[in-house]
Amino acid sequence: MNKDEIETMRKSFNTVKSRSSKLNEFSKVKYLEERVKDIKKFSVDNFDSLFEETCSSFDRNGIDVEFAETAGDAIAIILDLLKDYDYKVIAKSKSNTLGEINFKDEMSSNSWEVIETDLGDRLLQLKKFDNNPVHPTGPASHLNILQIADIVNDSLDKDIDPVAREIMEVVREDVLINIKNAQVGISGANAISAEEGSCVLVHNEGNISLVSLKELHIIVAGIDKIVPTLEDAISLAKLETVYATGNYVTSYMNVISGPSKTADIEKKLLKNMYGARKVVVIFLDNGRSKAKKECLWCIGCGNCLIHCPVYNAVGNEFGFNNYLGGRGVAMSKYIEDDETCFNSGLYMCTLCGLCTLNCPLAVPTNELIENLRKSSAEKGFYPKIHGVIKDNIGKNNSPY
Ligand code: SF4
Repeated sequence: MNKDEIETMRKSFNTVKSRSSKLNEFSKVKYLEERVKDIKKFSVDNFDSLFEETCSSFDRNGIDVEFAETAGDAIAIILDLLKDYDYKVIAKSKSNTLGEINFKDEMSSNSWEVIETDLGDRLLQLKKFDNNPVHPTGPASHLNILQIADIVNDSLDKDIDPVAREIMEVVREDVLINIKNAQVGISGANAISAEEGSCVLVHNEGNISLVSLKELHIIVAGIDKIVPTLEDAISLAKLETVYATGNYVTSYMNVISGPSKTADIEKKLLKNMYGARKVVVIFLDNGRSKAKKECLWCIGCGNCLIHCPVYNAVGNEFGFNNYLGGRGVAMSKYIEDDETCFNSGLYMCTLCGLCTLNCPLAVPTNELIENLRKSSAEKGFYPKIHGVIKDNIGKNNSPY
């Protein structure tokens, strides 16, 4: 990211910071934080039984379930599902999990075109290069309106002014045309309830509703998204909204508990009314079952990034793939390996602890990083200069 992008990102972050700081002192938000902490701790500690319950609830609701041990397994499952569809366009909504499995690149190398339906994600997609997101819910927060207008004009052959509404309308029209005939929609999920077998998806733009109306709706979710009940899932989505956007609630919260159906004619059950004929949830492990439990408490609000001094200085260079900042660095060890963790910025962290202080779940990211440094150093991944200092101390009793 260049200097201008970092500055624009900081301005966008400050806007969210001032909005959410007004909300997070409310007693209701404090209560929600404590409730969600308990929910996540319980869910991570009781994963096996909750997973079993979720699978049987999905089965009862007519949702197909798949389990992917690795990113490669998830892609193979998706490609297998796509075999039944011939119009090679997929409508996609925002999902860090899909970023984790390199979904777009994999689909493109299999001749499928993926259309981002979220405005920020679509702008990055139209940008074509240097287009990694900078925040889990505000992916294009680093681009100013002049840059955005240029991207839209160049990629869509338009001549619009740098006016937010004009940009939004042009992109919306382009997305709607591109996904009109798509048969497949794909998304992540913010939370999944075991008892009801329901997926909760939050959004402001209404795009997830479009994605979920395609013939096949694939939901790819980390195994850490499972919580006991629908009330728990909604609490989690509400808290994420407060810290991700600074608003108390999003415009939309879709609860998907099965394929489309009706019983309006003599109470006989008929499948396939307006929504998806088939809903498939792919649970992704990809290192999560090996991860420290605290890593899995995260609800993906991005508040740690907004407050991180390193992230505010260097941007998405600090992090791994779509998992940004210190928590992303920590996850990279489990998703990939020690080397990736080292290269994702293991030693960029100042260990200041502002991430933990500002995390609604109190994920101890700085502690995780400190411990990962120990294990990474044992495997030979540490800054070269540390080796020089160590040798000097051995030889000269001094670091110099
Ligand atoms: S670590 Fe905490 S602050 Fe950061 S994204 Fe996760 S829940 Fe939000």
